Amino acid sequence: MQALTNRAKPVDRKPMTFVERLYLWNIAKGMMITFKHLFKKKATINYPEQTRPFSPVFRGLHVLNRDEQGRERCTACGLCAVACPAEAITMEAAERKQGEENLFREEKYAAKYEINMLRCIFCGLCEEACPKDAIYLSETFAPANYQRKGLIYGKPDLLIPHPIDNPEEYQQALGNRANKQQQEN
Ligand code: SF4
Ligand code: SF4
Repeated sequence: MQALTNRAKPVDRKPMTFVERLYLWNIAKGMMITFKHLFKKKATINYPEQTRPFSPVFRGLHVLNRDEQGRERCTACGLCAVACPAEAITMEAAERKQGEENLFREEKYAAKYEINMLRCIFCGLCEEACPKDAIYLSETFAPANYQRKGLIYGKPDLLIPHPIDNPEEYQQALGNRANKQQQEN
């Protein structure tokens, strides 16, 4: 039969000699490869003590944003849920009552907001669709979990810390966005 390429090599099926059956040379060859790697730059790091820098376009765990006064930005318009190709977002809207102006920026707010991290593909379309800058994808991973329900994130998991009550945690949660905001101002 005519071969399509000349890459095929006949397999050597000669019985092994006594010396070959001791595998000493092959063990020595393997050890030499190991020894060579002792002096090479390590390909691994001591995670989680050490972390690698993320790409500037990395999209991680979602954050529900507040404004500079600490009011929730989300107005429960549902655009993020409509834009989500994985149908991972659900919410329930509620009307803001008198006296709640310091809690919610808009007259309507998300009383319940959930993202199913098992469905999410971290595409960032929810962030793009939001007209209120109320949701963004941060530089943090969603932690692993043994339970399905532990991967359904509600408002307490998603909401950014209050900028006035917890300024340090707020800045930490902003991550790269803090630098971007400084550059824009
Ligand atoms: S990142 Fe993409 S998949 Fe995940 S919730 Fe947002 S729109 Fe849906
Ligand atoms: S996060 Fe943005 S797009 Fe989604 S419901 Fe809230 S305001 Fe609308």
